Amino acid sequence: MSGKREAAPRRRLLGIMCIITALCLAATALLWKLGRFPGENDRFVIPSHIIICLDPGHGGSDAGAVSGERLEKDDNLAMALAVRDALEAFGSDRLSVLLTREDDSALELQQRVDIANEANATLFVSFHRNSGGGQGTEIWVSAEGRQPEIRLAGFISEGLNSVGVGRDRGIRRGTAGNAAVSYAVVGRTKMPACLVELGFIDSEADNALLDEHFDAYAVAIADGILKMVNLK
Ligand SMILES: [Zn+2]
Repeated sequence: MSGKREAAPRRRLLGIMCIITALCLAATALLWKLGRFPGENDRFVIPSHIIICLDPGHGGSDAGAVSGERLEKDDNLAMALAVRDALEAFGSDRLSVLLTREDDSALELQQRVDIANEANATLFVSFHRNSGGGQGTEIWVSAEGRQPEIRLAGFISEGLNSVGVGRDRGIRRGTAGNAAVSYAVVGRTKMPACLVELGFIDSEADNALLDEHFDAYAVAIADGILKMVNLK
């Protein structure tokens, strides 16, 4: 009799342990699926010398989006140059900045990727402006949505939001047309990369915000990059 009385609590304990184990396994599987565990592409090691590659979208005969006299390629270049200035003004001898273009020259997407990969850049940020009748900023990462690029995009997004944007359209995976495909400059670069759409060029409100807060946006993006490499 006494043996039976002891067996019941033991069975209950065993049952509870089984349930806990099952829950732990389910949580592990879920976290794995969500990409919360670092995989091969989720490691981000900050090198002793940090190279930030900034990529002003479009250029030359490719104006990008156009709104009246305003050309996307010009806004992209101006912002990339301002971010470079902000990064250089930070004055770390551990940091250097590389631009895929510094003037109105045309570049293929693969050339931009090659510049970053051949330099073994630490981070890559591409600058663009949206069009098509919306409003606000958005940041694109690869379709896979790797943790370091989401973190980089998050730091930049936080900074832009603290300055003030028309609307925070979020951090998005893939491309506007297909969530399963990455933008070339984000998907083919080997380092954490993101593509910033700094408002809609066909939105007067977004253009006014960009013009008013131009320097503050540049500093916010630079600060986001500096946070990503633990310099801020
Ligand atoms: Zn563009």
